[in-house]
Amino acid sequence: MRLFLLSLLLLCLQTANAQEPSEKASSPCGTPPGIAPFLKAYHSNPNAFITERSSDTLLAGMQLHLLAKDNGIGRISTERLLDAFCQLNEDFAASNIRFYSKYDWNLIDSTAWYQHDSLDAGIDMMLTNNVPDALNIYFVTNPADNCGYNLPYAGIAIKHGCAGANSHTWSHEIGHALSLPHPFIGWEGKVYSPLNPTPDTLTYDYTHFHATPDLVNAPLDTALTEYVDGSNCTIAADLICDTPPDYLSYGWDCDDLNRSYVLQNDRNGASFRSDGSLIMSYAFDHCQNRFSDEEIAIMRATLLTEKQAWLTTEQAEPDLAGPATLLYPINQQYVSPVNTLLQWSAVPGATHYLIQASLLQSYIAKEIDVVVTDTNFMVPALSTNKKYFWRVRPFNDWSSCVPFTANGIFHTTDIVSATEPDSEGWRCYPSLLSAGQMLTLELPETWLQHPVQYTVYDAAGRMMWQNNISTNDLKMYLNLPNENWPAGVYRLVAVGEKGVKTHAIIKS
Ligand SMILES: [Zn+2]
Repeated sequence: MRLFLLSLLLLCLQTANAQEPSEKASSPCGTPPGIAPFLKAYHSNPNAFITERSSDTLLAGMQLHLLAKDNGIGRISTERLLDAFCQLNEDFAASNIRFYSKYDWNLIDSTAWYQHDSLDAGIDMMLTNNVPDALNIYFVTNPADNCGYNLPYAGIAIKHGCAGANSHTWSHEIGHALSLPHPFIGWEGKVYSPLNPTPDTLTYDYTHFHATPDLVNAPLDTALTEYVDGSNCTIAADLICDTPPDYLSYGWDCDDLNRSYVLQNDRNGASFRSDGSLIMSYAFDHCQNRFSDEEIAIMRATLLTEKQAWLTTEQAEPDLAGPATLLYPINQQYVSPVNTLLQWSAVPGATHYLIQASLLQSYIAKEIDVVVTDTNFMVPALSTNKKYFWRVRPFNDWSSCVPFTANGIFHTTDIVSATEPDSEGWRCYPSLLSAGQMLTLELPETWLQHPVQYTVYDAAGRMMWQNNISTNDLKMYLNLPNENWPAGVYRLVAVGEKGVKTHAIIKS
């Protein structure tokens, strides 16, 4: 469900009489006539909006803002975001409109915006963070109790759970941002029943969803209900004639022909079922697959005029050629659990790769879920004696439809507990360190009398401790402040004039 929308519909009916219960006093004229919404202008003269560019593929830039809580937890997963972005461009392929990430993803840590239960907080989030000349999209966990919404003067908010493969919320909200109303406009917040007479007009509250911000509660807007015979389609409901009447403003399921099970009656008594294939309807995701021809014309005209600033004339990057190939480790190879280097083949055009590794073939719980720009990734520490599954998915700012590679499978070995001196006589023990226990280092003579920088990193690569020590003794002790370190694998790195030594330490 996408409970809210932008409004560009403007019907000034001097004699509107509210036949639906309303939370507010009705007003005869919804919006001051001085504001000329795009849709009305378009309808008055569609040909004026058709330019020589109108058959081009239009390339529209977006700024994606990915919200998390104050502590950085909870952001939308990259996999879900890539699936959603792929679906978005599939939904708009027939429109010859292509969306791309114009700037790097903007990561925002704010619990108040991440789960905002009021539109005011969403407006604040957008007006604080918006960038110019791009369609601003915010992924949050609660967009004011909606699946998503569009504020025409600010941007789009989308709920994590309503984004992904086979979800059309992102496309629906962009439809709003490009001037499209719901086909059932006027019925928002009302429940149609065939038992009640169908009214001629409907009033609805579009406070905050008008083309410009409403500082106070806006007067009610008014819509005519649409007839099945199309006789009033240019002035009723969404003003779009190839979207037939639809009175269903709640999430609804469809039959095999994508039509509503609910039979509705227009004011003349003609019965019909709603068309759930329309992305601007509230039919369930599996019903939706298209914008109508007139909707497409309106969206393109909006982009070519009002929203021209979103368009780029630069070349679109071609679709990525195909999946990557895993190179190492694969085929059940055994690897050290420390500093494991994962490698795969480059995919032409890919600028980023999503890498996932898991102990489970389902990847429900992931040990690694990172994005890199290279074709390898060094994992500081994995669990010992485990079977791992891993995979890679390439993408760039334009294209995210290439799937993951097939699973690579490898095994991690034990950490070697016998810490024999290495070829230079360097030795570090024990490998299993309990709180308060000192780490013993045996140094070759060449490492004495020079400062050596000792650093301990955790499995995520965060520095836990660092010290510069110069000694004349062949044996020394490091007293690591590890009382509060979580159990797990750490790495000691010693950097001296004679080289670099690393050792894995397991904190019990
Ligand atoms: Zn909507």
